[in-house]
Amino acid sequence: MMKSIIALMLFMSHTVLAETHVDVKPNPQFSQDAQVFADKVESQHLKFVPEEISFPEGKQKEKFELALSLIEDVMNSPKFKKRVIGFERNGERSYRKNYLWQDSDKLLTNEEIYQVIMNGNEKMRADTPGEMNFNSWVKACKSYEMIGVWCRKVIGSTSPSNSKWIRLNWTFYKKLETHEMVSNMVHEWLHLLGFLHGKNDIHEEVPYVVGYIAGEVAREMIEKNKLE
Ligand SMILES: [Zn+2]
Repeated sequence: MMKSIIALMLFMSHTVLAETHVDVKPNPQFSQDAQVFADKVESQHLKFVPEEISFPEGKQKEKFELALSLIEDVMNSPKFKKRVIGFERNGERSYRKNYLWQDSDKLLTNEEIYQVIMNGNEKMRADTPGEMNFNSWVKACKSYEMIGVWCRKVIGSTSPSNSKWIRLNWTFYKKLETHEMVSNMVHEWLHLLGFLHGKNDIHEEVPYVVGYIAGEVAREMIEKNKLE
């Protein structure tokens, strides 16, 4: 009994460390010299590899498929690189919780964070360097489940230390726009690399900031090309 309670608590804490909460709103600032810093880092190519993906049929699926088709261009765009490397917090180029897993003695610079992202080394989808391996499914909460926080407040979640899957919440995905989907999908995928949440200022952590950057780049691409 005790063992299963501990296992459940561990499971819950891991999920809490790796979800997107609807009330967290990033508003990132960028260095004026972002381009100078970005130009010093070699560009890498990240290949988007959709693997097992399921999504409900209908109008939202068209938006979701557009999101899937944009992600590779978003991740490899010069704008994405410039903003990820140029992100500033309190006037310094540094992310909150700028380390992988619990490795707090190995702090990563913005440049290193960009490289970790472009290496695409998901813990549970290892040995595929340079690939963004994507596996997702959509959970539609039943009305009696809406009492739970996940169903009401969490857009997506993962268990990155033991699963390659991204769980998306239909409560939100039934009304999200394409760029908002991109933002959340990238946020969740970053968890699979080992970028987790702490307790404070989580809107300044890698998943929220980089997810936001990806969503904005997608929004700008859609507007420019009138894809919607
Ligand atoms: Zn998260």
